[in-house]
Amino acid sequence: MNKLLKTAAILLAAAAIGTGCGTRSSPTTPTPTPTPSPSSTSPAPSASPSVTPTATATPSPTPAKTPAGTKTGDAIQVVAAPESITALVNKQFKLPDSYAPKDLVYPEVAFIFSEKIEKRKLRQEAATALEQLFAGAKKDNISLAGVSAYRSHATQKSLFESYVKRDGEAKAKTYSAVPGHSEHETGLAIDVSGSSGKCAAEDCFAGTPEAKWLEAHVHEYGFIIRYPKGKESITGYQYEPWHIRFVGKQVAKDIASRGITMEEYYNALPVSQ
Ligand SMILES: [Zn+2]
Repeated sequence: MNKLLKTAAILLAAAAIGTGCGTRSSPTTPTPTPTPSPSSTSPAPSASPSVTPTATATPSPTPAKTPAGTKTGDAIQVVAAPESITALVNKQFKLPDSYAPKDLVYPEVAFIFSEKIEKRKLRQEAATALEQLFAGAKKDNISLAGVSAYRSHATQKSLFESYVKRDGEAKAKTYSAVPGHSEHETGLAIDVSGSSGKCAAEDCFAGTPEAKWLEAHVHEYGFIIRYPKGKESITGYQYEPWHIRFVGKQVAKDIASRGITMEEYYNALPVSQ
């Protein structure tokens, strides 16, 4: 790509940057709730069997050129293996409309709300890893709480539609993911805050001891900071220190040690191209 094209691409990408969590405009009043601490989790990141991701793309030392997907005609591709723990979901790659994870469970960790509802769920493997992550944080005197995890396609759809109704589609897209394009629909992503719930999924979470701990340690548990600082033009999302995505330990460590994003891992183009 020549320099001019590259510049244009970056500018285009920058124009499309938004927030991934879609929780911005409906701030909730966090009520910290003590939840049973996970008793079954081992204190240290154990050598749990790491899953060999099949599917979308091959997470190997030589990443596939592009994650497999089906072209829909408008540059949007449908994720070929949505159940893969390494499925790439972003503004370019969407989940099939009919996709719903089959192994959702309630992770035994604290959330900033007490209800046993959809957004408390994660897929089994991610939930177990999250329990270990929270336990590891606790050992370092960092007290974490979940803010929002799974969101069904139907929920994302109604959420997005309500935003469109209020602000118009263009504006809604700047702060909410289009249905099918939200990582929260995979059941592998969760927004995390400190147990006080202060700055939950807000910019002021950046720089807190909790954010710093997440930045330094999530990869040990198979998660990545999905929208890192300085990578906005690649991920299509502004820095979100609270949004972590489970990809498994092997891939997480690779991504963290190389300081790259999931898009770069797969050698995928910037999402708005
Ligand atoms: Zn999020």
